[in-house]
Parts: sequence; C-alpha cells; structure tokens
Amino acid sequence: MDIYFQEAVLPAKTKSFVVTMLDGSYTVLLNADLCLAATLEAADHEVRHILDKDFEGVDVNQIELRAHAKGGKHEALAAYFNGRIAFDPC
Ligand SMILES: [Zn+2]
Repeated sequence: MDIYFQEAVLPAKTKSFVVTMLDGSYTVLLNADLCLAATLEAADHEVRHILDKDFEGVDVNQIELRAHAKGGKHEALAAYFNGRIAFDPC
C-alpha cells in the first residue's frame, strides 16, 4: 500500500484529507499553513483512517469517533513507516 504526502493550500478549517487514487494508492493532502506538530498529527490521523480501511465504511461519525479515540501519538504513522522514521517533539 502506497501513501503519498503532499502539502496543499486548503481552507483554514481543513487540516488534511485523503484522496484515493485509481492505482490503489492514497494521497494525504496536508494544509501547508500547519506547524510541524500539527502536520504530523494530521498525517497520523489520515494514515490511521487508511490502515483501518475507513474508506470502505459507511457511518462517517462513527469512523471519526473511533479514529480520534485510538492510539498513541503518531502511532499510525509509525506503523505505516515500520519504525523507519522518528518524530522530534516540537
Ligand atoms: Zn478523520
């Protein structure tokens, strides 16, 4: 599973979102105005959705509640990158 990350000019209220690509990969769009800490948090949130296969789900409210309740800091990002990256606290 390939996940790409891209900064984008987004409305202030939108931290990030995921685009499902035709080749089966995912592109996480991250608001370019976020600081590093908020960018990592948003990226982690979206990777968690991808790893949990939430894009096949139906009830968006349930999906969001679960995504926000689960896991430690950057756990999903760490899982996706298989421990190959470390995060500096900021
Ligand atoms: Zn979400």
